[in-house]
Amino acid sequence: MPTTQHYATDAPAECDVAIIGGGFGGLMTLARLSQQAPKCQFVLFERMPRKAPGIAYGACDDAHLLNVPAARMGVFAERPTGFHEWLEREFPGKYRSDDFAPRALFGRYLLESVQSVLAETRACAAFVRDAVVHIEPLGRKFELLLASGRTVLARGVVLAPGLPQARAPWRRVDEGIARRLVVPDPWDQGAFRGLDRDAGIVVVGSGLTAIDVIMGLRRQGHTGHITLVSRGGRLPLPHAASHGSPAVYDPRELSQGAVSAFRAVRRAAKTLLREGHDWQSAIDGVRPHATAVWRAWSAADRAYFLRVLRPFWEIHRHRAPSMLLEAIEQECRAGTIEIVSGAVHALRAHGDREAEVLVRTAHGTLRPIVAARVVNCAGPSMSIGETLDPLIGSMLRNGLVASDDLGLGLRTDGDGALVRADGGVEPRMRLIGALRRGDLWETTAVPELRAQALAIATSLARELGCGAAPPNAVEPAPLGAVGGCA
Ligand SMILES: Cc1cc2nc3c(=O)[nH]c(=O)nc-3n(C[C@H](O)[C@H](O)[C@H](O)COP(=O)(O)OP(=O)(O)OC[C@H]3O[C@@H](n4cnc5c(N)ncnc54)[C@H](O)[C@@H]3O)c2cc1C
Repeated sequence: MPTTQHYATDAPAECDVAIIGGGFGGLMTLARLSQQAPKCQFVLFERMPRKAPGIAYGACDDAHLLNVPAARMGVFAERPTGFHEWLEREFPGKYRSDDFAPRALFGRYLLESVQSVLAETRACAAFVRDAVVHIEPLGRKFELLLASGRTVLARGVVLAPGLPQARAPWRRVDEGIARRLVVPDPWDQGAFRGLDRDAGIVVVGSGLTAIDVIMGLRRQGHTGHITLVSRGGRLPLPHAASHGSPAVYDPRELSQGAVSAFRAVRRAAKTLLREGHDWQSAIDGVRPHATAVWRAWSAADRAYFLRVLRPFWEIHRHRAPSMLLEAIEQECRAGTIEIVSGAVHALRAHGDREAEVLVRTAHGTLRPIVAARVVNCAGPSMSIGETLDPLIGSMLRNGLVASDDLGLGLRTDGDGALVRADGGVEPRMRLIGALRRGDLWETTAVPELRAQALAIATSLARELGCGAAPPNAVEPAPLGAVGGCA
């Protein structure tokens, strides 16, 4: 099975479209572009060596589960059940359509799907292991500067970087602390190497990422005490026991404003519970309207939502399998896991093998906790201005992109074209994924991203003008090979 580790290190000097990011968004935009503009030459850049694409499907172990049922995870919008069909072919009868299948399997399916589209279209695609750190417009082209020092000229660019890493949630870290004790990236595969099985751990955050990290540690045989520290001190809520039909809303009521929408959702949830159904369908019913509703709200409503309602929305919207929540609750009762409501104030040295984490609790007291690892699971920053990402930072500084009105991500038009700081749309440059959240809000998961990939590919292919009907299918080639390049 070819993996993303087969990427080449050399980039061609020129291409038609450079795609930055080899996660779901980048790969699916490449697949769609190869269908829409098969005569174009593509280069896809990915900076991380992973066995499968992106953070979600490449930085997981074999037991980490998807949080969307298999029947909704197809990579093509016209065939949403595609992933479940693939599972049926590979593991007949093992997964139901409403099962949460392993993320690693989705990574395999995604790679195979992209390979088979590239084989059909015979598009010329190069896969390069390098980071793009700067982009400069040069006449009608873009010059991309890579971390390796090379440059690449491209007629068009697709940004597919996911959510850039945020600053760690701790403000003060003593210089004397050994670097291995502090884990800023929870997906760092080597973070727990050499850790004693019974060592204490502090996990900052209590959302889905924190649950992934805890489950991964326990699967590796770690038995030590884990303290979860988060402002709300709340775990995500569970998925429904069965998948009912999503609640039906009048979009006009949801669009009236954040408070009106909140009331409508609460009313729908109460009705569902009264009738013996699961409240989760009330949240699922909002999803198809989310982008239209977000756009209809005033700036004040969006700001109110972010400030007041978002924590409640997040724990209801981003749910966890109930068996995982039960396992954590059982450990809380047994005293092997504790959830503390508060924020990390500072990290201090405590010998060579441990750090002292000073937690400011919800009651305002400072509580010291000693741990052999402090893991940042606080999630991405809600402020693009604070990004540490070299490429996004440099593009913001040179005005090639602009932050959206709420400062959550980057401004785009309806086609995903990036809007510059001067307000003009940058031709032949597109953005896919979570950085569009200021404009779209729901722009993170596969059902949204597969639609964006198609829309971006269609409009960019039109602009670049190198389209043609796809030729006959041939055998899939491994990623890393340069496909049908002349
Ligand atoms: C733990 C986790 C679980 C999830 N589970 C689900 C799920 O079950 N179902 C679902 O629908 N969604 C899920 N999601 C949402 C998930 O983010 C999307 O499904 C999708 O994978 C996002 O893809 P992306 O390409 O936008 O971002 P990413 O997967 O983050 O990929 C972006 C890639 O770009 C690379 N990159 C960034 N900048 C550069 C640069 N300058 N140069 C080169 N490379 C660069 C990064 O290294 C990264 O690999 C999950 C997310 C996470 C984090």
